[in-house]
Amino acid sequence: MPQTETLVIIGSGPAAWTAAIYAARANLRPLVFEGEPSRTMLPGGQLMFTTEVENYPGFPEGVTGPEMMERFKDQAVRFGTRVIQEAVTRVELGRHPFAVTPNYGDPVEALSLIVATGARANWLGLPNEERLAQSGGGVSACAVCDGALPLFRDRVLAVVGGGDSAMEEALYLTKFASEVLVIHRRNEFRASPIMADRVLNHPKVRVLWNTQVLEVLGYEHVTGLRLEDTGTGETREIEIGGLFVAIGHTPNTAFLDGQIALHPSGYIRTPEPWRTVTSVDGVFAAGDVMDSYYRQAITAAGTGCMAALEAERWLAHHGHGESPVLETAEAPAS
Ligand code: NAP
Repeated sequence: MPQTETLVIIGSGPAAWTAAIYAARANLRPLVFEGEPSRTMLPGGQLMFTTEVENYPGFPEGVTGPEMMERFKDQAVRFGTRVIQEAVTRVELGRHPFAVTPNYGDPVEALSLIVATGARANWLGLPNEERLAQSGGGVSACAVCDGALPLFRDRVLAVVGGGDSAMEEALYLTKFASEVLVIHRRNEFRASPIMADRVLNHPKVRVLWNTQVLEVLGYEHVTGLRLEDTGTGETREIEIGGLFVAIGHTPNTAFLDGQIALHPSGYIRTPEPWRTVTSVDGVFAAGDVMDSYYRQAITAAGTGCMAALEAERWLAHHGHGESPVLETAEAPAS
């Protein structure tokens, strides 16, 4: 086993880079495994598929998701963060130092670990859907991120899904759309009754029950959908100006192999309110991998900051460096 790292951060979204900035500035010399490009994911995470970010403070003109992640990364590297462009395939958390094994390179040992591997939006899996989502062609998995963009103004927008996310996205989009179509594959929503009622009673929303999307139409921009009635098998085409897929997210936790306590939904448990500690001492979690609720770049960055400060504090408590100033009000986490 090669040299022991003080802090290894796994991930490359806002949570990971913010953790790296804080840790690097605290002289922890963090090592980041930023992942590697695959068919469905890129280093940088979900923001790599977001065209315009207009709700992150400090960017009054807006910024593209990829540029934002590049700037986050540059800032982390400027303070001494080391970056390896590889996915981590395995961790061993039952020993200390922990072992972190990347896809190709040698395993490393780590005194502390921040898991910030994010979550990925679930997609319908239709060919044109993915292409238009990546090209900014009016297909998105996040209404809060993209809904306010000019291309969606006064258009008929479709939301696919029947859970709370779909309800929330549909209600949010009513601010901009001429009409919102909620397309659901069954004849009742999974969403909580209060959310479902708001959607069902909204004058701008129409629900297409028992309907599934067979095809996303459009070349440069989505223009329509080919739909199937799940009861009768009948198909038809509708015109739309935007498609929002809200069929859930999958947190990227498979590589943990059950060594950290998860919620039944697969998100990492951080049992103490306003903390990033996990069920494993010395392992912290930040960003969408532990947050199924807010899922915003700004909240991910906030928890990344928290995780770095907690890791720093934990390391100091275990004899590795000085404790940050924040350790005043209560005893350090053990
Ligand atoms: P979810 O509850 O799992 O709902 C996913 C929805 O997508 C379901 O209606 C499901 O249909 C549909 N779906 C899944 N795969 C599909 C496919 N391949 N094709 C078509 N439809 C498909 O996910 P979520 O809405 O993201 O919510 C996740 C969790 O976060 C939930 O616990 C939710 O309560 C919570 N949440 C809460 C709030 C809030 O309280 N404000 C907001 C957002 C999320 P079926 O119903 O037929 O399975």
